[in-house]
Amino acid sequence: MSKQSIHIVHLYPKEMNIYGDTGNRIILQKRLEWRGIGTKVSFVGIGDAFPEDVDVIIAGGGQDAGQIAIQNDLAEKKDQLNKLAENGVVMLVVCGMYQLFGRHFITSEGEVINGIGFLPLETKASDTRLIGNTVYDTPWGHVVGYENHSGLTTLDDPSLAFGQVIKGDGNNGHDGLEGCVVNNVFGTYSHGPVLSKNPQFADELLKRAMKRKYDDDTLQHLPDTLENQAADIAAKRPR
Ligand code: GLN
Repeated sequence: MSKQSIHIVHLYPKEMNIYGDTGNRIILQKRLEWRGIGTKVSFVGIGDAFPEDVDVIIAGGGQDAGQIAIQNDLAEKKDQLNKLAENGVVMLVVCGMYQLFGRHFITSEGEVINGIGFLPLETKASDTRLIGNTVYDTPWGHVVGYENHSGLTTLDDPSLAFGQVIKGDGNNGHDGLEGCVVNNVFGTYSHGPVLSKNPQFADELLKRAMKRKYDDDTLQHLPDTLENQAADIAAKRPR
């Protein structure tokens, strides 16, 4: 049998990458390598063609300026990204890219930045920033992260939330919801990088990718001692 291998695409690594979000790609790569599973990584930026044979897409947060910089290119990639999302490709999109997987983000200057519209949500800038350490209750355990955004996100359907806020503001500071999940697409405000302190969530993404590609989601156990320690400490930090 040929060796199993997962192809990870890091979308807009230059423009959309703050608070360590690039780490999510490195963590997925490492967790596959530690289990003897092969990895291929592609970086897709403005003007680059999107590979068809992708298994996982990672995209991070960015300033409003980063979102403005990518908007025309994202419009070109929109149909393909929607098709891949409908076909069950696993995606983790954080903060600025989470907002742009929804319908649009309206900046504080009133500029409308269009998203790809896969996630049924919209975001509008507010005049306060929602900043600090976060803990969310999700079906994949407590997810510990860090948020920094002014955008307030509203889901069309609250049952699509990634989790419930235990500590922090989440989507908008009002409805107690954080993130959004549709098919295998996970959107969240959690930076950090979020996967560094949440190995069970990292493995959920990998299991979904392995199931889709190989119809087998068994993953060799990893000890995760340091990762869980890091999560415990971060969860106790002041906001
Ligand atoms: N510019 C967006 C906001 O402030 C996204 C910020 C981010 O990605 N951290 O809402």
